[in-house]
Amino acid sequence: MNTSVLSTDLPQEMKHAVDEAVRLLAAGDVVALPTETVYGLAADALNAEAVAKIFAAKERPSFDPLIVHLPHKKDLDTVADVPEGIVPVIKKLTERFWPGPLTIVLPKKPCVPDIVTSGLPTVAVRASQNLVFNRVARTLDKPLAAPSANRFGSISPTSAAAVKMELDGRIPLILDGGACHHGLESTIIKVEPAAPKPLITILRPGPITPEDLKVFGRVQLASKSKDKPEVPGQLPSHYAPRTPLRIIERPSDFIPEHGKTYALLSYRGEESDGYLGLHEWKAMHILSPGKGKLPEAAVRFFYALRQLDQAGADEIIAEPVAERGLGIAIMDRLKRAASKA
Ligand code: AMP
Ligand code: MG
Repeated sequence: MNTSVLSTDLPQEMKHAVDEAVRLLAAGDVVALPTETVYGLAADALNAEAVAKIFAAKERPSFDPLIVHLPHKKDLDTVADVPEGIVPVIKKLTERFWPGPLTIVLPKKPCVPDIVTSGLPTVAVRASQNLVFNRVARTLDKPLAAPSANRFGSISPTSAAAVKMELDGRIPLILDGGACHHGLESTIIKVEPAAPKPLITILRPGPITPEDLKVFGRVQLASKSKDKPEVPGQLPSHYAPRTPLRIIERPSDFIPEHGKTYALLSYRGEESDGYLGLHEWKAMHILSPGKGKLPEAAVRFFYALRQLDQAGADEIIAEPVAERGLGIAIMDRLKRAASKA
């Protein structure tokens, strides 16, 4: 299969690209689309055969459920049943964060095929903010299942070029919408009724932080027991480069092995942080030069990981970032990239 990449920069390019994507999706095919988080591989969420093509292209195991993206936030009722006890809080959350990088797990409607939810009685739903994605979803006027457009377990793509690297020859079309605004996958939550406030459990940390959510309820992070993952797809090893990656908590913990080459994933690239001068790094990427800003680090994270993976070093050494705000989501991805389990 030949994989075409269509630009959306000029108005006439955008129109042609959207028309092509809609034509393929309506015919039950898959198309890679930009979202504000990472690039997604989309298919009509209500067409089981189309969704099966996502799993095949990504080599994704069938136990890992997909997120359903709505054309408009008002379409929530078409795929999910909001339990009575949480109607007010879901209304507030969707008013505040949709369209945007917040995914909510809710009981599913029968029209959502089992392949989308891996047989679970619940469906994960969000509405994307990306202009190109929205034009496609709204023209097609159907919910789209769209996991990240990479091979299963590999680094999420934040550009059309990265999608091409991952899925070339496996999908018919990629729409190029430029770099992704956030660069990390959506925050996934489940919401339960509780007194005096609803309980919001973060199943996957992302761009919407615990701080952002705490006005709407009591917020907790899902426990990360290895044996009993709270979320089926939240496997310990994910987002992984082919090159082994190790997080070094303190510079003094790094003892290079003779003859081995190393690449550095640096947070701020500051000499005074103690990592730069530790070694003659074969390659280095700085996530947010200077003061270190977490949103900038998030945007560059997967790109930097992809570049370092191609540097041909024996190991990637990563500096940790502070585990607060967006740093929680970055460290989540970094730990999964480092995990061999
Ligand atoms: P992505 O691969 O970024 O599309 O994210 C999909 C992830 O959403 C899966 O790997 C699961 O972790 C999570 N997810 C999807 N559906 C459900 C669900 N019904 N219940 C809990 N988590 C879900
Ligand atoms: Mg993914």
